[in-house]
Amino acid sequence: MLPLPGPGGAAAGDGNGGGGGERLAVDWTLCEGHGLCAGLLPELVRMGADGFPSLADAGVPDHLRSRVRRAVRRCPALALRLDRAP
Ligand code: SF4
Repeated sequence: MLPLPGPGGAAAGDGNGGGGGERLAVDWTLCEGHGLCAGLLPELVRMGADGFPSLADAGVPDHLRSRVRRAVRRCPALALRLDRAP
């Protein structure tokens, strides 16, 4: 199912600027702790003491959307993805 555009043609969102309700997620079975995502998205990702990324528990803000998509594409382990927020 594809999202329907809201008023003004923008994708329908959750009303908080959260990129249409998208969240950054990591597949922990694939993540190898490269840290590339934390370098590309310091606003949303920090490297934890265990050497693996810790993600902000918030939706993706609209102004970070293109950088988030770039980080997802560049994850060398294909572990990073964008999920629809519940
Ligand atoms: S770039 Fe990918 S593999 Fe590296 S820490 Fe981030 S999610 Fe894990």
